[in-house]
Amino acid sequence: MSNVRSDTPSGDTTAVEVSHLYKVFGRRTDDVLKGLDDGKDRSELQNLGTAAVIDAGFEVKRGEIFVVMGLSGSGKSTLIRCLNGLNPITRGSVKIYGTEVNGLDGDDLRELRRARMSMVFQHFALLPHRTVLENVAYGLEISKVPEAERKETARKWLDRVGLTEWADSMPDELSGGMQQRVGLARAFAADNEILLMDEAFSALDPLIRHEMQELLVELQEELGKTIIFITHDLNEAMFVGDRIAVMRAGHIVQVGTPNDILTDPANDYVAKFVQDVDRAKVLTAADVMEGPRAVVRDTSGSRGALRVMRDLQTPTVFVISHGRKVVGYVQDTDVLRAVRAGNTDISSILQPLPAKVTADQYLSELFELTIHTRLPIAVVGNNDRLLGVVPRIALLAALADTDAEADLTISPQRMVPVEVLDATLNDTSGEEAHS
Ligand code: ADP
Ligand code: MG
Repeated sequence: MSNVRSDTPSGDTTAVEVSHLYKVFGRRTDDVLKGLDDGKDRSELQNLGTAAVIDAGFEVKRGEIFVVMGLSGSGKSTLIRCLNGLNPITRGSVKIYGTEVNGLDGDDLRELRRARMSMVFQHFALLPHRTVLENVAYGLEISKVPEAERKETARKWLDRVGLTEWADSMPDELSGGMQQRVGLARAFAADNEILLMDEAFSALDPLIRHEMQELLVELQEELGKTIIFITHDLNEAMFVGDRIAVMRAGHIVQVGTPNDILTDPANDYVAKFVQDVDRAKVLTAADVMEGPRAVVRDTSGSRGALRVMRDLQTPTVFVISHGRKVVGYVQDTDVLRAVRAGNTDISSILQPLPAKVTADQYLSELFELTIHTRLPIAVVGNNDRLLGVVPRIALLAALADTDAEADLTISPQRMVPVEVLDATLNDTSGEEAHS
């Protein structure tokens, strides 16, 4: 029988598939399962055993950073340990690249862990009597990679995490943050397809922690690893996660992108959780931009611009040329003067954009830009193509969750009274003939 499945998965492959997974601790697991099936809450079954994971289901795509987030005790560690067989599964299925983990025997499990998955724990778990370099090379040693080769690989990874000079030091000579870098280097050096990270950064102080988050995202983008990342910290989840599963009391209550979770929480629990998140660092320009309406072509002339201003009651319009390339904006007072003077060409009153951003820029970056201008912020794509605009009010509304909105008073753009624009358009209509 030929094995048709390729050994190296590619494309849009499912790396991990979990369905109807239960993990119950205690001796009366069957009674606990039965109680859960009958609709009982896990707290009612506590005297029979601990239902740590209840009917969990999700898929992780190859190359994705999938975050499992929840309060302490919600079942995150138990769940992740079911993925690599450290916890025998009570009921349900876990597949790693199509291979069912439930029921694998010891040797097969070890092989699965060696070949497919490495794990980074909160407490580094570095081997104390080996040098930093030997620690990084450890996974390769297990895989029986020849010494010279594994040392070379390990050195490369130490470079990558900025610890070149520490190769021959012992782990206890390093700070916590540096030790965790070694842990990360070891995980990446082992060259497994799937990285399981259980609160890997939780013990680090905030600054180093954020550095590590950035390093992780960077390495992931470079290498396309599949990462399952556990955290109880929502901001961390939002920063590193492509998708996030929110766990509560053994259940997965929502799976979605950071944006889904933030803007459309599945229930009150998730909503409470996301209340304090720094939305400015999660939402992007694309999430809040509006279709650009106050826009004229560079060929439309001053009267055309004035008309748009009157109709939309806006003191500024963006000016675009071929391919919707945004070339600047014009201001109502200037346009008014031009129309009155019979000057049709708007290029002489065109002003450069004070700010433009790309669709993937975070609101925190946009916010800084609004300090310097009352103009909506232009969102542009390739070749300055105008994709949308973010009015200041939309930005503030997105950032301000609840009552905060009331505190963030902004003064609107000052505008020439619309009657004046109207009168000008009527008064000078005769001039259109010789323009
Ligand atoms: P988290 O990682 O989200 O903090 P855990 O998965 O560690 O949560 O724990 C979930 C629940 O399972 C907790 O109530 C915990 O006490 C229980 N639990 C975890 N491991 C065991 C075990 N080996 N034996 C018994 N109960 C356990
Ligand atoms: Mg845990």
